Amino acid sequence: MSATILASTPQHISLDEARAIVQALTASRPRPTERIATDAAAGRILAQALSAPHALPTFANSAMDGYALRAADLPSTGERRLPLIGRQLAGTAPAPAVAPGTCVRITTGAPLPAGADTVVIQERVRLAGDAVIVSVGTAAGANVRAVGEDFAAGAEVLPAARVLDAGALALLASFGVLKVSVYRRPRVAILTTGDELVPAAAVPGFGQLRDSNGPMLVALARASGAEVVAVRHVGDDAQATELALRELAAIADVLLTSGGASVGDADLLPQLAQRHGRVHFWKVRIKPGMPVLGAEIESALWFALPGNPVSTAATFLTLVRPALRHLGGREPSSMLYAVLAHAVLKPHERVEFLRGSLRCGADARLEFTAHARQGSAQLSGLAASVALGLIPETARELAAGSVIEVLPLPELWP
Ligand code: AMP
Ligand code: MG
Repeated sequence: MSATILASTPQHISLDEARAIVQALTASRPRPTERIATDAAAGRILAQALSAPHALPTFANSAMDGYALRAADLPSTGERRLPLIGRQLAGTAPAPAVAPGTCVRITTGAPLPAGADTVVIQERVRLAGDAVIVSVGTAAGANVRAVGEDFAAGAEVLPAARVLDAGALALLASFGVLKVSVYRRPRVAILTTGDELVPAAAVPGFGQLRDSNGPMLVALARASGAEVVAVRHVGDDAQATELALRELAAIADVLLTSGGASVGDADLLPQLAQRHGRVHFWKVRIKPGMPVLGAEIESALWFALPGNPVSTAATFLTLVRPALRHLGGREPSSMLYAVLAHAVLKPHERVEFLRGSLRCGADARLEFTAHARQGSAQLSGLAASVALGLIPETARELAAGSVIEVLPLPELWP
């Protein structure tokens, strides 16, 4: 079967064009939401902004261990003796109201007794029997956490699209929010292709190798907020592949295939995409990963990723990940830039993805160093790297210190 794609399909496009097509394809798709228990919501994306159901703190309380009193009783010079009339600890029954000229022992977080408006820290007082000698130097209203100083009632607590991280979960607990509306995780199905592949548990025979793209794509998809609903493998067989594509497209929002996307004898995917799907682009001016294909099949978005492991990873990070992030309700990742630690020569006219490491230089700038092994089938270079460095299409020679876009692995840059 020869891979004939309609001439009207964008081909050999730039990375920016491919990114724009993917963005347009995802923008119009529904992003379903679901209500889940807050205690199972870590890492999920909030679908609706949350406003404060009440003020926080709900009651005025002490920011320090000390003595609660009235500001009017603070000495303006020297010292002042105030009888101690009670004790207010955090979580205990209310102390008596602070009458003019008296004070109450108070601890951090304890409610300010009625009448009091100021706390003098214990380091600024001396105890004298059943009274306290307060020295000068405390401002009126000091060391008091006012009602609503964190959030006024009705103020926005969390915006929509916010990641429910540790801080966000702490806020939800503070407001007693037990259920939240979050975006449903996009459902991803993964189909690896190739007669030469065997599962990790098998011993490869002649010319065979273990499937590494399957597990890699599972990890990348999950780290991009997706739920992986199926992982399948088919040989280079058109009928079996077509059947698998249809079955997976029926259960997934996004279908990822690995391998068979180019023009080799066993590369069936472009033809199948042409026949059974809607192809939006094929071949992007990038290296590695050039044969990547973007399509829709039934209602699923389909990325046919080339099989070389580094090509698979690079096309996932540049094209699939932004789509999954959008479908999962996330804001686009902020662009990250680094300076090249060394010169780069690039003889070709495509964007080059270098695998490499990142460190913060002495000038506080992020610095990218390419790994020595850049072969597109070399897992050693990929596994030792934390980011892709993007060398632009038009660049032929970049000097050390040139600024480039970098794409960190999702585990480092969620
Ligand atoms: P393809 O894109 O199918 O032409 O495959 C390109 C190269 O990637 C070949 O060397 C394949 O053996 C290899 N390859 C394809 N799929 C996988 C996979 N799932 N795991 C590891 N290597 C693969
Ligand atoms: Mg293949």
